[in-house]
Amino acid sequence: MTDLFTVINPATAQPVTDVREATLADADAAIEAAHAAFPAWKALPPGERAALLRRFASVVDAHIDELAELEVRNAGHTWGNARWEAGNVRDCLNYYAGAPERLFGRQIPVAGGIDVTFYEPLGVVGIIVPWNFPMPIAGWGFAPALAAGNTVVLKPAELTPLTAIRLGELALEAGLPEHVLTIVAGKGSVVGERFVTHPLVRKVCFTGSTEVGKRIMAGCADQVKRVTLELGGKSANIVFADADIAAAAASAPYAVFDNAGQDCCARSRILVERSAYDEFLSHLEPAVTALRVLDPGDESSEMGPLISAQQQASVRGYLDGVDVAFAGSAPDGPGFWVPPSVVTVDDPAERIWREEVFGPVVAVMPFDDEADAVAKANDTEYGLSGSIFTNDLGRGLRVARAVEAGNLSVNSHSSVRYWTPFGGYKQSGLGRELGPDAPQSFSELKNVYFAH
Ligand code: NAP
Ligand code: MG
Repeated sequence: MTDLFTVINPATAQPVTDVREATLADADAAIEAAHAAFPAWKALPPGERAALLRRFASVVDAHIDELAELEVRNAGHTWGNARWEAGNVRDCLNYYAGAPERLFGRQIPVAGGIDVTFYEPLGVVGIIVPWNFPMPIAGWGFAPALAAGNTVVLKPAELTPLTAIRLGELALEAGLPEHVLTIVAGKGSVVGERFVTHPLVRKVCFTGSTEVGKRIMAGCADQVKRVTLELGGKSANIVFADADIAAAAASAPYAVFDNAGQDCCARSRILVERSAYDEFLSHLEPAVTALRVLDPGDESSEMGPLISAQQQASVRGYLDGVDVAFAGSAPDGPGFWVPPSVVTVDDPAERIWREEVFGPVVAVMPFDDEADAVAKANDTEYGLSGSIFTNDLGRGLRVARAVEAGNLSVNSHSSVRYWTPFGGYKQSGLGRELGPDAPQSFSELKNVYFAH
């Protein structure tokens, strides 16, 4: 039985194309083929594996506009974001193409012989990708996994399969052997679950909701399967009164409304020192209302629609009965639009302060002093990212060390780079992606003693 899934353009609610969804038997066949391709890929001399990954990067580079266009139509991303995302796949491949020849172990002093360690690939790695950043999250998984000598099966989100399918074709065009990187488009409950239960998949790398992540972790326990989880967030943007308040307010919308707020790193809580609170809000309002919320087919759009009618309904549910302090604009008519909205909150028990909305909604609250700011920022089960604005270097350092989150930025909102580690504290995740150590997390460390 084959199912066709109709991919929708979220800006217009019109169909883009139909995609054939993989069945359980298709998933099994892809996993078995990846397992069969593993020994040859593992045995390839490191320099040859590196050269293939570099070639893959250059083929991606030659298709940046095509990949970006697919993401604009399939995910409602702005052109600027979509080009950056395709470029991020290329950069990630180039960066990890440097890994095969450098994935070395150690020689450890022992009596009576030598002791050496080796990093060895795991086998088949299953990567499960969400719909919010289909290209980067795929690349963050497959680039280091392939570099470390694993073969990969990758399941894109049902809503956004198009760029992943194209990347799979480009891998073959670049000369990667068949079944080294296989895209298996299908349902999470079918293909995703199979990655968890199939014994030939040795690691699952999941990005998505905390709810599904917990289920995957529990499922992996059955085979003591390796697992990396990148889950939700409710990150704080902490603005101290000594900061450049106008600049902090001008940048705040981009830190939460980028990708229409569908970003696990969204700074969806803003904490402002009480003495600067009114001034901050007076600068934030014009910055929010000036945001260009347009069909991303228009190159000047800064924010597009939500991914689906379901996501739109979920985000609207958070705004029901809540006093919106001010909001930006959004197109009328078809498409899954929600205007960027700012809500002021007094009570930290409020749902909008605690739950990940995953939409263009930000909650703002005052704080009294540094200790209060840190306590409020940490009063969450999440811990993915956050920002700190202050002109006091010591305070920037103290607060960055005190906030329980994996990725922080001081006087900036930027914290995701392919060459620095990325991941969450608490229920935001388990393990780290990216950075210099990612290939090790797709490897087993083997220790061998040779007696002389
Ligand atoms: P989700 O269900 O966690 O989906 C993420 C990925 O997991 C998709 O590829 C999905 O496939 C797959 N999946 C779903 N159920 C699975 C299962 N039982 N076993 C294995 N894989 C499974 O997320 P969602 O439903 O799309 O979004 C819900 C909420 O999750 C959002 O509102 C947001 O709060 C959060 N979210 C967070 C991130 C993040 O980056 N941290 C990303 C996306 C969503 P299908 O698409 O085929 O279901
Ligand atoms: Mg789901």
